[in-house]
Amino acid sequence: MSDSEVQRWDRAHVWHPYTKASTLEAGPAPVIVRGDGIYLVDAEGRRFVDAISSWWCAALGHGHPRIVAAIQGQAGVLQHSILANLTHPQAAELAARLAGMMPTRERRVLFASDGASAVEQALKIAVQYWSNVGRGAKRKFACLHTAYHGDTLGAMAVGYLEEWHRPFQSLLAEVVALPFPVGAGEFGVWERALEAHRTELAAVIVEPLCLGAAGMLMYAPELLRALGDWCARNEVLLIDDEVAMGFGRTGRMFAFEHAGVDPDLVCVGKALSGGALPMSATIAKQFLYDSFSDAERDRTLQHGHTFCGNPIGAAAANEALQIYAEMDAPARARSLGARMAKRLGALRGKRGVRDVRGLGLIGVVELEPEANCGAISRPHRIRLRLQERGVLLRPLGNVLYLMPPLIISEEELDALVELFVGAIESELAMAGAAEGK
Ligand code: PMP
Repeated sequence: MSDSEVQRWDRAHVWHPYTKASTLEAGPAPVIVRGDGIYLVDAEGRRFVDAISSWWCAALGHGHPRIVAAIQGQAGVLQHSILANLTHPQAAELAARLAGMMPTRERRVLFASDGASAVEQALKIAVQYWSNVGRGAKRKFACLHTAYHGDTLGAMAVGYLEEWHRPFQSLLAEVVALPFPVGAGEFGVWERALEAHRTELAAVIVEPLCLGAAGMLMYAPELLRALGDWCARNEVLLIDDEVAMGFGRTGRMFAFEHAGVDPDLVCVGKALSGGALPMSATIAKQFLYDSFSDAERDRTLQHGHTFCGNPIGAAAANEALQIYAEMDAPARARSLGARMAKRLGALRGKRGVRDVRGLGLIGVVELEPEANCGAISRPHRIRLRLQERGVLLRPLGNVLYLMPPLIISEEELDALVELFVGAIESELAMAGAAEGK
């Protein structure tokens, strides 16, 4: 298959997610044919640093030999078998591993493929739980304003972003949106909104500590701690969406650990399989599962995706979890993150830079909005500049960020950060010159 054939088929038939048609008209999308550690390699052999870990999932980079071996080994034995009234070794092991990573082991794990499905499952478990225990009036959700939880209808309701989801607004369930951002000592702002709906709330769902898609907006662990306490005191479940932040990225295995809370439901995905295969899970406390008993009447959870717990995905995930433990992924994110933050700190206070922030191995530079941007906005000019220099990233509005694979070496990270800072400084210098300053 030639490169031009790929481009032709792509132009005629591929619907690219989150991609403006105009950007594809401006030039064809790079054809990625191979992955190698922190690099994605295109058809011409050019190597690009995957600076956002392919939408935050490739925590172990690409082609990790142990993940490849796990996939190959399992593919030769059993590719798929459903988990309804059956089980298989990989899913059972993975469920036990995930339960063992929670503050207490008494958990049940419902698998799915994508993050959004893990979130939908958590929402449905929460609502049916309250119905199971005879409290059916509790079926509303509270969420953080501008949080993101996926693109399905339930997930969009609790993760409404005006510029992405407006056409669907009338289809979405009514939620209690907690104001965001709020300062570390301002839990009272959330508390007032929660109190007004206390008796009808099934659950509060959060992105822990960092609202990713909204632009890596961070909040203090104290707020999550206070929220967890409030939920426990008020018979409201806490759903923690670790799809983006889980598995070491923030400097703890799960971001909720920074706050010392013990969520009732935890959603994981993305890096669960090392980013190699679609695999996600909803981890529920045992008391939730127990309420689904059919001993007196049938309360079975009538929910399940075809590829729930797929053996090949589960094999990749079991290996990935083993690797995260052996490499001490949280410690690695902390030390590499501190290194990155030091260098990015040089941009703080520079003209055109609104904020520099970080959490674990996430480094963020937020630019001031442009007065009058041309056809291509400043963040995208920086993106293209970096693409020419062999770095792939995707800005979120005016936010540029690095979220590289956790396996990146110190030297590779230093080189990446230099290119990133250099591209931002050059673009800001050109803007300054154009303004005659
Ligand atoms: N939750 C969070 C916090 C996410 O960041 C994402 C994806 N960016 C999702 C859920 C949805 O995951 P998926 O794209 O795998 O459906």
